[in-house]
Amino acid sequence: MTRTDHIAICPGSFDPITLGHEDIVRRALSFADQVIVAVAHQSSHRKTGMFSIEERVALIADVFADDPRVEAAQFEGLLVDFARSRGADLVVRGLRGVRDFEYEFQMALMNRELYPGMETVFLAPDAGRSFLSSTLVREIASVGGDVSRFVAEPVLRRIEERRATRST
Ligand code: ADP
Repeated sequence: MTRTDHIAICPGSFDPITLGHEDIVRRALSFADQVIVAVAHQSSHRKTGMFSIEERVALIADVFADDPRVEAAQFEGLLVDFARSRGADLVVRGLRGVRDFEYEFQMALMNRELYPGMETVFLAPDAGRSFLSSTLVREIASVGGDVSRFVAEPVLRRIEERRATRST
């Protein structure tokens, strides 16, 4: 049986990438041939957040350095335009619970309206990681808490480096 390759995009803010995101990306690799983990941004808002867009992309690249099927990228503007430009046919989103659903469902229908050639796939995360969010990781890290169970090694190192330079 022959089929065309599936290219999936996992879009998000990834400030920073957590083990919850990583779980979703690795699950997507069970049906996608290539996964593009893409940091969405608007150039007018580049300075908000914990990490710059470039740092977020670099951290994603470090986390998936072991797998050539994963690419770290960034895009500005509409997801559908980025997807078209990369030949992607899937967008993968993680659903942490019903609170994510309403917005995700609406966005999936809007994206289909804008680009019928792309399908949205929702994945359930590992149960032990469904409570994770970048917001919580940022909040815990900002008050000196231990986030080692929530982020991968390269992200933890970067958070610790920042902490060290700020306290000197
Ligand atoms: P966050 O809400 O953590 O800032 P993003 O906006 O970067 O995350 O989200 C990118 C994608 O990752 C979204 O589809 C989001 O639902 C998913 N996601 C984020 N955290 C988790 C998690 N712990 N488990 C499953 N999916 C997640």
